Parts: sequence; structure tokens; C-alpha cells
Amino acid sequence: MVYRYFSELEDGDRHLKRVIELDRYWENIQEKSPNEVVFPGSELPDGMTVNGECDIFYVGGTLGLLHAAVMAERYGYRIMLIDRHVSGKSTRDWNISRSELDKLEETGVFSAKEIEAFIVRKYRTGWVEFNVEERRRKKLYMDDVLDCAVDTDRLLGAAKQKILAKDGCTVADRSTFRRCYQFPDHIVIEFKGADGETLFFKANVLVDVMGILSPIAMQLNNGRPQTHVCPTVGTVASGFRDADYDVGEILASTENAETSAGSSRQLIWEGFPGSGKEYITYLFFYDAIDSDNDKSLLGLFETYFQKLPHYKALSNDFHIHRPVFGIIPAYSHRGFTREREIADDHILLFGDAASLGSPLTFCGFGSMVRNLPHLTEALDKALASGSLLRADLEKISAYEPNVASMANLMKYMCYDARTDAPDFVNELMNEVMIVLDGLPQRYRQTMFRDEMRLDDFVTVLLKVAWRYPKVLKATYDKLGVGGSVSFISNLAGWALSAAKSRG
Ligand SMILES: Cc1cc2nc3c(=O)[nH]c(=O)nc-3n(C[C@H](O)[C@H](O)[C@H](O)COP(=O)(O)OP(=O)(O)OC[C@H]3O[C@@H](n4cnc5c(N)ncnc54)[C@H](O)[C@@H]3O)c2cc1C
Repeated sequence: MVYRYFSELEDGDRHLKRVIELDRYWENIQEKSPNEVVFPGSELPDGMTVNGECDIFYVGGTLGLLHAAVMAERYGYRIMLIDRHVSGKSTRDWNISRSELDKLEETGVFSAKEIEAFIVRKYRTGWVEFNVEERRRKKLYMDDVLDCAVDTDRLLGAAKQKILAKDGCTVADRSTFRRCYQFPDHIVIEFKGADGETLFFKANVLVDVMGILSPIAMQLNNGRPQTHVCPTVGTVASGFRDADYDVGEILASTENAETSAGSSRQLIWEGFPGSGKEYITYLFFYDAIDSDNDKSLLGLFETYFQKLPHYKALSNDFHIHRPVFGIIPAYSHRGFTREREIADDHILLFGDAASLGSPLTFCGFGSMVRNLPHLTEALDKALASGSLLRADLEKISAYEPNVASMANLMKYMCYDARTDAPDFVNELMNEVMIVLDGLPQRYRQTMFRDEMRLDDFVTVLLKVAWRYPKVLKATYDKLGVGGSVSFISNLAGWALSAAKSRG
């Protein structure tokens, strides 16, 4: 079915190649020792010539464009940005709340008018619902959560134009990062240019925004840059019979976990109205990186096309405009603070390469937007003071103690046939929705916008445990002693950081 649907698409071949490219991730993490790409300066090839110089060299033209636009326009740095495909053309579409987008305005680089123009639709409300018997099923409505559909290409295109408008700033497409060489006071980046030529650039700092495939993240984290993932596929399409263009379907399950043919996964849908008659549907599941499940996007697309008509009725003029897909990364930190490596001397990782966003709500774009003012200001200060070694740069991160704690909830959504009944995720999540329904709106809004306060989070946990004591055994089964200790450590880290910011 995948090949049939993709061959009907304009550019279907190109999309399919991108899916296959991302699926290489699964081979990469099987490798015993990751491919080395970060080398000491002494390894720089003899006789090479430096083709250019800049202050900040970005590899990756999705979220990298947002950060680079601020560093170019507001702080005046000379930027070089490369992407192996065409920068500013994402394989996803984004939802976010209007108040989160205010952070873009706070950078001083995007005006309120521009931001309004990136939004192609606003929904009246949104809901979350899990598949349990109808009389017990709680459809939880929430306002101001992921309720703005953003035209990703328009937003990223505007960021790209801002970079290109500045003297000394360049964006190079179809250019692939190969390796880099660290010197005490700079870094040299080796990449393949659009014509296949090998080029070398000298920079003060290399910002890695290569997403989940980042070979730098792979090397810095000894071949294990993620602990959990959320493979996601879907389409932007038109011709649904019962799509409500006023309401977002934030999370929706339509059946219990799959347990057949060695598969052990709870599939979940999302449905978001887009521009005009477009409607975006996603199918995904949460999983541990080392589970036995087939996590390939190609396999998931096959399931998506089979099951889509059961989620949304298709009319005769059903038409796919383009596919959307990706592997959403997650990292479960074991201690009080960030454990994941996100920097090295003259190297800094952002976005999915840093894997610090919460996969629970899909909000990698939201995490970057929320943190953009401080991630740009902090890099400006580091550059101005020449503090560009690992210990300096790793302080510039989107790590949020609340997000780290919330990521533990994702582990309950990773269905495991060895310990869970097929209805486990649905039953548990239905109880969470009932608890949230009895609490003021702010609890559900902050939970689904990754902005929850510790006391609110603990309230929800206690209420769920009270209503649904089975969750205590499930905690032992799913998290084990080590995982439970990590959960508590994450909460303690959150409490400490909350106390620090109050003091
Ligand atoms: C289907 C889907 C829907 C989503 N919806 C939302 C949402 O509604 N709201 C939200 O907040 N988040 C959402 N997310 C998450 C969000 O899309 C990601 O967090 C975000 O795209 C990460 O951006 P990035 O720049 O870090 O990585 P990517 O988007 O993966 O971009 C990496 C870029 O680096 C380039 N690259 C990779 N390797 C190299 C190399 N060697 N040389 C040169 N270039 C290279 C790639 O071509 C690519 O352009 C969604 C994710 C998916 C998969």
C-alpha cells in the first residue's frame, strides 16, 4: 500500500527516499561503535585549504534556521548554514499554542504581524480520548493547547530570508556534513558541497541541528543518543467525510495494543485541521529504543494506510497532498539533572540532535520556541567572552526539569506485551483524563504544553494512584527499581530547580 500511495504523489519518489534515509537510524544504533566524526585538530588533512570563515556554522536547516535567524539579525554574527536537502522544507507540520509563539516575538526578530501570518488555522478547542468501553470513556477537552496550525515552510522560509539578508551570512543547500576538527580556539568543518566537492570552513562554534540522525550526537553519547523514540507517520490530505475543522484531536486511540505477529505497541492517532480543506492525520507509538518491535517508518506507513479509514471516514475525493513523518526522540535522564551529552569543545547541539524535548506531546518545535530567547542570548554571551569549551557550552541547553519528569510518563505509554494487558495504556490514560477533568483547566493545559508545575504534577500522580491503584504495580513492572529511582531523582531535580528559581 505504501508504494501505491506514494507513487500517486507528486514527488513520491523523493518522499520515499527521505523515509528510507530516516529509517537508517535503526541500523546506526545497532552499530557496536559509532562512526567517528569529531576529531582533534591534529587530524586535519595535510595541504587542505580553508574555503571560508564564519562565527557560527550551523548544520541542519529546520530548527537551525530559527536560531540562526536570531543570531544573524539580532546579534549580528556571520552565519554559515548547510543542509543536505533543501533548508526550510520540513517533512512535518507543526501545531503550537498562540501564547507559546509570543516567544518568537520576544527575540525581536519576528513581529506579531509576521507570526499571525505563519498561522494557517486556529481551532476552537481540542480533545484527548482513549479507547475504553463507551460509558466509561472520558473525552477531555482543552483550550489553548496545540491549537494553532503553523505553515512550517512559511515560518522557516521567513527565517531563511532574514539570514540571507545579512552581510556575511550564507545558506548552502544540498551540502552534507562529514566531520569536524577541534582546535583550542576554533573548529574546522569538513562538508560535501552541492557539486560533490570537499570544502573546509573555519568557525568559532559549530551548532549541530542535524536532528535524530546527528552523527555528532551519536559519537558524544557512545552510540546511544536516545533511550526512547516515537516513530510517527501521517499525511496532509483532503477529502475526509467527518473531519471537524474547528477542533484538534490531540491524542486518540481507537483500539487496544497490537499483540500479534511479535508486535507489542499501542497505536495512537492525532488529527489536526490544516490550511483550507487540508486535514493532517498522524499515527504513532511510544517505544523503548531497545524493544523488539519493528519501528521502521516504512512499516508504520503500511499500517497507517490500512487503518486510516477506521480512524477517519474517507470520501471519494480523498487526496493526499504530502506525507509527514519522523522519529521523535526522547532521552530519559537518570539523575537530578541533564545526563545527555549536548556539547563538546566548540560544538553545541540543539533541537532533536540534543533530544531534550518531551516526546509525550510531540513538542520539539515548541521546546525550541520556548527556549529560543535564552538559547540565543546565552550563545551570544559565550561567543563574546570566548567561553566556547564544553563546560561553557553545555550550560546553553533547552533542558527543563519538568520536561525530564514528564518524559517518565511516556514510559507508561510504551506498551510491553510481557508485562501489560492489551488494554493497559487505554485504561490508565482514561483514568488520567478523568482525574484531569476534575481539576481546573490549567492542569491539562500545562501538562500538554510541557509547562506543568511540580505541585500540580504531584497532585495528578497521587489522584491517579488513588483512583487506579493498579498503576503502582505497573510502575514496578515497567520502570523497575532503577527506573523508579530515576523518576524520583528527576522529581527531586525539579524540586531543587524550582526552589533555586524562587530563591
Ligand atoms: C510528524 C511529526 C509532527 C510533529 N509535530 C510537531 C508539532 O506539532 N509541534 C511541535 O512542537 N513539534 C512537532 N514535531 C517535532 C518537531 O518536528 C521536531 O522536534 C523538529 O522538526 C526538530 O527539528 P530539528 O531541526 O532539530 O531536526 P530535523 O527536523 O530532523 O532537521 C534536521 C535537518 O538537518 C539536516 N541534516 C541531517 N543530517 C545532515 C548532514 N549530515 N548534513 C547536512 N544536513 C543534515 C536534515 O536534512 C534536516 O533538514 C513533530 C515531529 C514529527 C515527526
